[in-house]
Amino acid sequence: MIPEKKSQHPRSPWTLKDALASLLVKALSLAIRLSGKGSATSLPGKLALRWHPPLLNALGKKLPAIRVMLTGTNGKTTTATFLRDIFEANHNACLLNEKGANLVYGITTSLAQAVGWSGAYHAQVAVLETDEATVGKVAPAVMPSDLVVMNLFRDQLDRYGELSTTAAFIEEGIPFTTGTLFLNADDPMLVGMGRNAEKQGLGVFYFGLNVSHDVGEETPTGLAKTVPHPQEVANCPECGQAVLYRSRSFAHLGDWFCEGCGLKRPDLDASIMPLQVEADGWHLRLDHHVLGQGIILKSPLLGLYNAYNVLAGASVAGHYHTPVTAIQTALDTHHAMFGRAEKRVIEGKSVQIMLIKNPAGASEVIKTVCDDKKAHVLIALNDSYADGEDVSWIWDADFEQLLATHPNAERYTVSGKRAYDLANRLQHATLDTTWHPQVEPSLEEAVHLALAGVNEGETLYILPTYTALLQLESLRTI
Ligand SMILES: [Zn+2]
Repeated sequence: MIPEKKSQHPRSPWTLKDALASLLVKALSLAIRLSGKGSATSLPGKLALRWHPPLLNALGKKLPAIRVMLTGTNGKTTTATFLRDIFEANHNACLLNEKGANLVYGITTSLAQAVGWSGAYHAQVAVLETDEATVGKVAPAVMPSDLVVMNLFRDQLDRYGELSTTAAFIEEGIPFTTGTLFLNADDPMLVGMGRNAEKQGLGVFYFGLNVSHDVGEETPTGLAKTVPHPQEVANCPECGQAVLYRSRSFAHLGDWFCEGCGLKRPDLDASIMPLQVEADGWHLRLDHHVLGQGIILKSPLLGLYNAYNVLAGASVAGHYHTPVTAIQTALDTHHAMFGRAEKRVIEGKSVQIMLIKNPAGASEVIKTVCDDKKAHVLIALNDSYADGEDVSWIWDADFEQLLATHPNAERYTVSGKRAYDLANRLQHATLDTTWHPQVEPSLEEAVHLALAGVNEGETLYILPTYTALLQLESLRTI
């Protein structure tokens, strides 16, 4: 069991109006679900807050002592789900906000759905996946015991502006964090955040990957002097100079150091070293300052981005003395989140779906596709608000690598509202003006078209942006 941690959370009264507003959320959620007109993850909370603005505050104050808020550009849903699974494998009931409901209204909806009439939660732990720009809005209500920041990538620039703005949104939540700040030490910008937090007296727990191989160009001194690709900014948080790397996992993440001022990646409280992929999964060596050294985990989730997700989850769980067996059980039973790496069979053909939403994440997904020599690829690009209206990020994703390993145009289908932009992008990656993928803006048609070319023993990889992913979900019966 989780040891009791002294809560610094002030007790506050639970009023009749709080209870009624929560009941309203439950009733609206049920009505929306019964009407079949949506998943009710956000609207009930929005309406309830309009009627009773202090609701989120009241719900937050009643949460259990362990309240983990989790944010960052990539991996938060996978990590939040994984962390929930670890706590539950250790028999700690865990409250997790619903998939994708990571803004103020969504979090309010999730909490109100879970709270009892008297203001008590059944859960012993709450894990709240929180959008980066929302951390500062929700943290004062929730007062997280722990704040986990996965990474900061350039993502949906039109919505959030520069990375430093995103970092500032997250930093607004730090003064309301009562316990520990968990940071990815491989991301220099987050280390800057950690240094500020330490000055405020907050405990900081650093996690990072130890990759044994250097990636990228070698300097005469044998160090990986890399220019991260896609073009990610990685400047020293102390002096602003571009950092160099001893080793790099992907994009701007790695064992970095600064030649300007001597700052380097901090000592790690927890690390993972990726080992071999075996029949029982990917072997990862976990070193954790509470759990111990040289722990071998077996993960069904491949890709270094997933190693970070496993590490972040294990970091928090281990901090609360959750045994390694619970972490392994969670890995064993972990069902890949829909769209994060879901395998299924459509029309008798093998399909794997992997969400793409920004250059770094897409480049990692592309690496996975490149490993399958018989891959067929369907990419669906939409430009709705939830996708990011600015699709110029596709020019920073590493489609060159994909086309280099899989040059055959017959294996490509592009779809979505911006299918033609995507076709243009892929053609540029080939440097061949006669190269044309199949273009079918209708996603449903595109799926049929792409599957028609897939033979037995081959897999179709579908790489959708967010709203295309939701469309795929509605096509589940095809
Ligand atoms: Zn420096």
